Amino acid sequence: MSTFIPYGKQSICEEDVKAVLETLHSDWLTCGPAVSQFEAAISSYCGAQHAIAVSNGTAALHLACLALDVKEGDVVWTSPNTFLASANCALFCGASVDFVDIDPVTYNMSAERLEEKLKAAKQVGKLPKVVIPVDFAGQSCDMQKMRSLADEYGFYIIEDACHALGGKYQNKPIGSCQYADMTIFSFHPVKVITTAEGGAITTNDKKISQKLQLLRAHGMTRDESLMTEEPHGPWFYEQCALGYNYRISDLQCALGISQMRKLDEFIAKRNMIAKKYDELLSGLPLVLPKVLDGNYSAFHLYVVQVDPSKTDKTRLSLFNYLRENNIGANVHYIPVHTQPVYRDRFGFKKGDFPEAESYYKHVISLPIFPLMEDKEVSIVCSVLQGAFT
Ligand SMILES: *Cc1c(COP(=O)(O)O)cnc(C)c1O
Repeated sequence: MSTFIPYGKQSICEEDVKAVLETLHSDWLTCGPAVSQFEAAISSYCGAQHAIAVSNGTAALHLACLALDVKEGDVVWTSPNTFLASANCALFCGASVDFVDIDPVTYNMSAERLEEKLKAAKQVGKLPKVVIPVDFAGQSCDMQKMRSLADEYGFYIIEDACHALGGKYQNKPIGSCQYADMTIFSFHPVKVITTAEGGAITTNDKKISQKLQLLRAHGMTRDESLMTEEPHGPWFYEQCALGYNYRISDLQCALGISQMRKLDEFIAKRNMIAKKYDELLSGLPLVLPKVLDGNYSAFHLYVVQVDPSKTDKTRLSLFNYLRENNIGANVHYIPVHTQPVYRDRFGFKKGDFPEAESYYKHVISLPIFPLMEDKEVSIVCSVLQGAFT
């Protein structure tokens, strides 16, 4: 019996361990120099002017909404095919949430559905303040089209790129914020790089960047230009907004800096595994992922759909078969609008976003991570072969 192959896993090397240990022996465990060094590594990699590192991806989404002053009475739209946090961040701010159905090829928010929904929303005066497209599995959304809609209808774009660090869109790194007001990353261990827990926001807007820094640390400032009175002395600070403790530590950032050095290698390896799956699975009754021209996917996930026009096998039976054979299949994602919190609060029902629901019925995520060996990719494929024979 082969050992269990998880769907995702971090890659930690000796340099990573050394970087964390050195920081542990240094003067700064938090609020020290590693934080701004990590931020500089992210902003320069992405080609964005500012990066703000925070405690996790969910905190990054929350802060992004706060920086745009999302509040009660506002409406935020996101994709139903995402992790809960892409929608929860709007609820944290008291806003209401609605969804835009996905494109059946990329499984990303459909720019066409977005346009239709905006037209309808304009008629009834219920346009969103913010749209949060999610670069699902590591492939960018149609950001250029979404930017032109944002300009036409007057909303902000927070691009949830928690799957997509290291990916490219129109030959530019995801996170450059050419089209988005802010881009969000997560460094949870299953993601592309890890800081154990961690997240970041990139932006080209200096005001937004300052607001994010303020809100990440209680809303406290020592910057005289932001104060309402003369400092009482060198100890003086003012709280000028209600912020949180969403800081990331120097230990985490030291790990992040070390991981950033291997990012391109990680993404190349993920793309190699995806290519191998494409080849070995092409004859099976599965719909394989498609990456559109102009996109370079970070391949955080490799998702396949069981094709009901070609097989009687259900997703559930295939999933169980994979697990019985020690393959850590997973499912991404249960459509968020069908979750009790969203269903009960906003009255969503099954059938509201049919593409996301139909996709969900058939999808399975297969293992993909940089340390996955060729042999393991072959094992996954031969188990899948076996499932259909
Ligand atoms: C992982 C993830 C998040 C949340 O990130 P955390 O760091 O776990 O808080 C948000 N959105 C998407 C799409 C994610 O995959």
